[in-house]
Amino acid sequence: MSLLTTSARRLVPSLSKTALASANAQAARFYSKDSRIQVANPVVDLDGDEMTRIIWQDIKDKLILPHVNLDIKYYDLGMNYREQTRDQVTIDAAHAIQKYNVGIKCATITPDEARVKEYNLTEMYKSPNGTIRNILNGTVFREPILLKSVPRIVPGWKSPIVIGRHAFGDQYRATDFVAEGPGRFEMTFTPQNGGEPKKWVVYDYKGAGVGMAMYNTDESVTGFAHSCFKMALAKKMPLYLSTKNTILKKYDGRFKDIFEDIYQKNYKAEYEANKIWYEHRLIDDMVAQALKSSGGFVWACKNYDGDVQSDILAQGFGSLGLMTSTLITPDGKTLESEAAHGTVTRHYREHQKGRETSTNPIASIFAWTRGLAHRAKLDNNEALLKFSLDLEKACMDTVDVSGIMTKDLALAIHGDKLARSHYVTTSEYMQAVTDNLNKVRGH
Ligand code: NAP
Ligand code: MG
Repeated sequence: MSLLTTSARRLVPSLSKTALASANAQAARFYSKDSRIQVANPVVDLDGDEMTRIIWQDIKDKLILPHVNLDIKYYDLGMNYREQTRDQVTIDAAHAIQKYNVGIKCATITPDEARVKEYNLTEMYKSPNGTIRNILNGTVFREPILLKSVPRIVPGWKSPIVIGRHAFGDQYRATDFVAEGPGRFEMTFTPQNGGEPKKWVVYDYKGAGVGMAMYNTDESVTGFAHSCFKMALAKKMPLYLSTKNTILKKYDGRFKDIFEDIYQKNYKAEYEANKIWYEHRLIDDMVAQALKSSGGFVWACKNYDGDVQSDILAQGFGSLGLMTSTLITPDGKTLESEAAHGTVTRHYREHQKGRETSTNPIASIFAWTRGLAHRAKLDNNEALLKFSLDLEKACMDTVDVSGIMTKDLALAIHGDKLARSHYVTTSEYMQAVTDNLNKVRGH
């Protein structure tokens, strides 16, 4: 093993072949005179699958490593390595994110039956995102990237709307059943400390029907609230929590009270100093307000509302290729960022056949810029923060100023008048961003 390979192994712990090549290049620069931005602490890189895996390598090689000297803790979450490690690599990666506070994740396959066959898997492993979220116990926020030249279904949305979904409990952990015929549906709460059990008659069925019981916890709602307050503060945007507390007075009332209490005690002064605010809204009022608004706020959604509203938002703002996803822990210290879309399998199949692809890499590039910006914030690294903003601008200017874009965006602009001359291939777009970035950075 050469000296460079040895040093690459030290820089990047669990190496795949592709990572080794890039780590070698990184190590070579490490030992030569280095004019790149120096970063004091590591970031965790979670590699993924298919089309996005190809894009991922290109992002590191062309856009990140030539400009930033970064200690990358590499974890290969590609389907083959997850199988080899029986998914231990996902758990190890989550713990590394906990340790280093910044995770940057490529899209990964969530196996179904067809994937179990395709990859000869010993089991149908769980979604890596679910595993990571359970270990980090954070809230996922979705935020669109706004491009001037790409029209939106809701044209009034001039600034992003960031949705935080409370991904615990409610309908997703409910006990539901079919009542086969007439009978009584009762609910009981038995206190652990020996107090009297409490009982409620929910409904007396006269015939067949359905029923459901669901729950949430103060601990989870509190963590969700802190993540949302921190996110809005970081974005310098107002925060709204939507519930239906007029109907679910106790259940949704608890969400409202916990948020209000935390706001008064922990955040109000800082919000006022930043000229932002927190307010509770009824979900139906909030939906109407969101449609009429010009955007520019963080929206804390209960679990089911967040599921529905985030898909409305993704459509309303345009392409899936322009939606980012960020996981933030309640203490605001740890952040994991990724594109909201998947591994773009259909395009990958084309690529495997040797055909050209036009896959939008913008959300994957923003996974890197948002992760690096968080590293910059934690380390107080101005140069790194400026770099991540420069790279975001290079992506946007390539579309908005140079008019160079991938097919999904061209389709959003030209509709059924789309011609081949309106868009470029995946690698041509990447090269255009690289050239734009090099110009801005004076390379
Ligand atoms: P997908 O990868 O998001 O792609 C669905 C379709 O959306 C594509 O076929 C493409 O439409 C369009 N699209 C998505 N991203 C695009 C981009 N960057 N540029 C251009 N077009 C884009 O969803 P999927 O095909 O349902 O899932 C594929 C795999 O991804 C699955 O194995 C799934 O488990 C996984 N997945 C992972 C994550 C994650 O890691 N967070 C999330 C979702 C899905 P056209 O075909 O019309 O061009
Ligand atoms: Mg959904």
